[in-house]
Amino acid sequence: MGQPIDGRAVAQKVNAETSLQVERLKVNGVVPGLAVIMVGDDPASFSYVLAKEKKAQELGFKSFIYRMPPTTTQQELLELVRSCNENAEIHGILVQSPLPVALNEHELVMAIVPEKDVDGFHPINVGLCALGAPHALRPCTPAGIVRLLQECKVSTRGKRVVIIGRSRIVGLPLAHLLLQRGEFGDATLTVCHSRTPDLGSETRRAEILISAVGQAHLVKADMVRPGAVVIDVGVNRVEDATKPRGYRIVGDIDYDAVLPVASFVTPVPGGVGPMTIAMLMANTVQACRTQTGL
Ligand code: NAD
Repeated sequence: MGQPIDGRAVAQKVNAETSLQVERLKVNGVVPGLAVIMVGDDPASFSYVLAKEKKAQELGFKSFIYRMPPTTTQQELLELVRSCNENAEIHGILVQSPLPVALNEHELVMAIVPEKDVDGFHPINVGLCALGAPHALRPCTPAGIVRLLQECKVSTRGKRVVIIGRSRIVGLPLAHLLLQRGEFGDATLTVCHSRTPDLGSETRRAEILISAVGQAHLVKADMVRPGAVVIDVGVNRVEDATKPRGYRIVGDIDYDAVLPVASFVTPVPGGVGPMTIAMLMANTVQACRTQTGL
């Protein structure tokens, strides 16, 4: 029988480390500042932004939340990003996805100065991360997954690792991280995606299987190699009349069926999700230290 990986507990540990660094910065008269820009009223984005604001405040950051109306123009957003770039109290900036379709997210990410790009999505940071630069701002979800593996003492060195999904926010940068040299890199890596013809034949070979697709219960027990470590990034709503909201959140992995086959599995919720926010806070402190030289 496999063990669940408690992402909330690991996130708490990361947050405690961040909190210590915040204390040290405050002794030097510096308070880390995080700016979050959200446009429109997408309910999921709203709750993500709220969670980031809450965590930033809990950790003693200065939090700058910009909730912009859906009618905001690209030009207005570019100006907002530029003013955050120039604001010395702001060390990290992120633009919450998704944006209304009329807006160009790529252009906005490009407008953030790379040293304040705490999501790690700017091409400079993507490049630094791919090249294994030690102080690159790494994308939060992939960095959180690597930290979960470290905490569970699951080395990836030489292991057959299969990632399902190649998005620019999860699958692709995670592949970059797992190909770095080191005990939590050096993977023998396969990246699957929507054009992979026989997903099960790939996943069954995985000693470590990571799914970042966004399809409820895509990965069944017969797609998992016995004893594999399984990391579930997916966040999917499925109808559930027993819940007050009429739905519940599940991952990409058929958790109840896979747990008995695997050695470790991350639950959804409570696995990768809390790590993403924890790593965002850690990135903000890292950015603050780089910018202030402290
Ligand atoms: P995306 O839509 O950008 O990418 C999905 C990827 O899955 C694509 O590369 C696509 O090729 C692949 N794919 C689609 N169908 C497939 C199939 N049948 N077989 C194999 N591959 C297939 O999504 P994303 O932004 O990477 O997010 C993926 C999931 O992870 C979503 O559910 C998202 O909500 C979740 N997510 C969670 C966190 C977190 O912190 N927990 C963070 C980011 C994303």
